[in-house]
Amino acid sequence: MTIRVLDPEVVSRIAAGEVVERPASVVKELVENSLDASSSQISIEVRGGGVSLIRVIDNGLGIPSAEVELAFDRYTTSKIGNLEDLESITSLGFRGEALPSICAVAQVDIVTCASGESVGTYLSLKDGMVANRGSQGRSQGTTITVRNLFRKVPARLKFLKSPATENSHIANVVSQYALAFPEVKFTLLIDGRVTLRTPGSGRLIDSVTEIYGLEVARNMVEIGHGGGEWEGRAMVSPPKVTGMVGSPAVSRSSRGYLSLFISRRWVSSRLLAWAVEEAYHGLLPQGKHPVAIINISLPPEQVDVNIHPAKSEVKFQNERLVFNAVQKAVRQALIELMPVPKIEAPITAYGTPSGQRESLWALAGSSDRLTTLPLAPPQTPKVSLPMLRVLGQLLSSYIITEGPDGLYLIDQHAAHERVLFERIEHQRARQKIEVQGLLEPVTLEVNPKQDEVLKSHYDSLAEFGFSIEPFGDKTYLVRAVPALLYKKDWVGMVREVLDSLSGGDWAESIAISMACHSAVRAGQALTDDEMRELIRQLEQVALPHTCPHGRPTMIRLSSGQLKREFGRS
Ligand code: ADP
Ligand code: MG
Repeated sequence: MTIRVLDPEVVSRIAAGEVVERPASVVKELVENSLDASSSQISIEVRGGGVSLIRVIDNGLGIPSAEVELAFDRYTTSKIGNLEDLESITSLGFRGEALPSICAVAQVDIVTCASGESVGTYLSLKDGMVANRGSQGRSQGTTITVRNLFRKVPARLKFLKSPATENSHIANVVSQYALAFPEVKFTLLIDGRVTLRTPGSGRLIDSVTEIYGLEVARNMVEIGHGGGEWEGRAMVSPPKVTGMVGSPAVSRSSRGYLSLFISRRWVSSRLLAWAVEEAYHGLLPQGKHPVAIINISLPPEQVDVNIHPAKSEVKFQNERLVFNAVQKAVRQALIELMPVPKIEAPITAYGTPSGQRESLWALAGSSDRLTTLPLAPPQTPKVSLPMLRVLGQLLSSYIITEGPDGLYLIDQHAAHERVLFERIEHQRARQKIEVQGLLEPVTLEVNPKQDEVLKSHYDSLAEFGFSIEPFGDKTYLVRAVPALLYKKDWVGMVREVLDSLSGGDWAESIAISMACHSAVRAGQALTDDEMRELIRQLEQVALPHTCPHGRPTMIRLSSGQLKREFGRS
């Protein structure tokens, strides 16, 4: 499409605004233009935090010589033509605003050569006006150089942070687009140093390796198979979600490792971030966030990108649909990432009364004892863990077990925490928490901060079986506690909960803390029966592989690994 001036009616409908806030915004707009021009190589060079120089070189379609000046006029674009196009934007740019806005606050040079042209066009602009025009040799593509950004806008210059900070914003923009477009070769040079270089192989994992390193890349798994069935122009099945997510082992303390794209447009969306975090629910320790790269393919008319000047926020026609699709896709990938061995033998053993575990293991293994054993009525089989045979205890902390495919070393505290956590959640959901009345009420003294929290949270604690009532200044009377905690340090647990709670999911924090305080400790010797009982319970939980804080409950050494380690073929 050629570059045209947008109709005033279209202009009045676009969410115009300041697009050049800092050097990174210039880089973002220029890189988006290069991507819209179908470039397969984009090289970005910056100096002085992007204030002295930003140069973006691409091998895209180029701008025809006759249209170069037009590209720098406000509201001129080759990407949309009329109001209707505004409803179905497929390019990253569409407002014809970036180049004129950049020109208004910096000195800009462009060399561009469109296909079919034998020589490139050179244009130099100062204060938004063309200062020079000429021809220059160049292969197909465009080079735009931006110098002395904000020199004439001191107020803006003052607002900028240190060059190092501005550089990090720039590197982030480039990284995000490198993740969104793995088929494009990106190079970023900061003050002459190569900061980032992606191979343009088309494989997301290669971009991830370059940007986050090998360790993270090794712990990433692909998401998204299927989805995105179209029926006419309406989307009938869930939107298609693709990308990669990190295993809980590579979680981070900030949300900065979550990249969200809508049809490969980098966006920020609390809704989507929440959907991703929800999918990790129970798998990450508190305060940790996932590494994830998520792209959602949606028909353009189902998403409005024209609500924010920087086009970084979007509005969905059907938020719930998108939320569910993202959450489901991520969860599915995580389940696959933590593969669970399948049980081959008939699974009638599950749900039997405790104490029969040993014989049931034998049942699955050898058929000759079968007749002598009482068979419990089969219940809904759970296949989250195979049946494990307890071999012994290690360091009074780990239970050594054997399963159908090798050795499982189980962290007794983490495993018990998981078992108790699910039991507590289950009982609470049914309002059937087992409560133990205290023979004598116990007074609980709290500090002022704990007092504030406790005042507004009796109800939550009561749901879990604590009967607590005020008894004078910062003092409370406790009449009953959850049966699970009766002989444990429930005072410590209540204090911990009161200290750690600040918004968030109260109920879950209480359940986690209860599980943690009532679980067997590391260093505690267990009898064979106790170990067997714990393993039997672990086999029946929904998420046996991690404790409620997100730490692993077990390490598996497969028979294949054992053979390899011992050098057997
Ligand atoms: P928009 O991207 O919204 O169309 P811009 O001001 O960013 O507006 O760019 C104006 C026009 O200049 C674009 O529509 C496009 O035709 C052209 N253009 C800008 N950068 C490039 C580039 N790197 N390669 C090819 N064409 C470009
Ligand atoms: Mg643009």
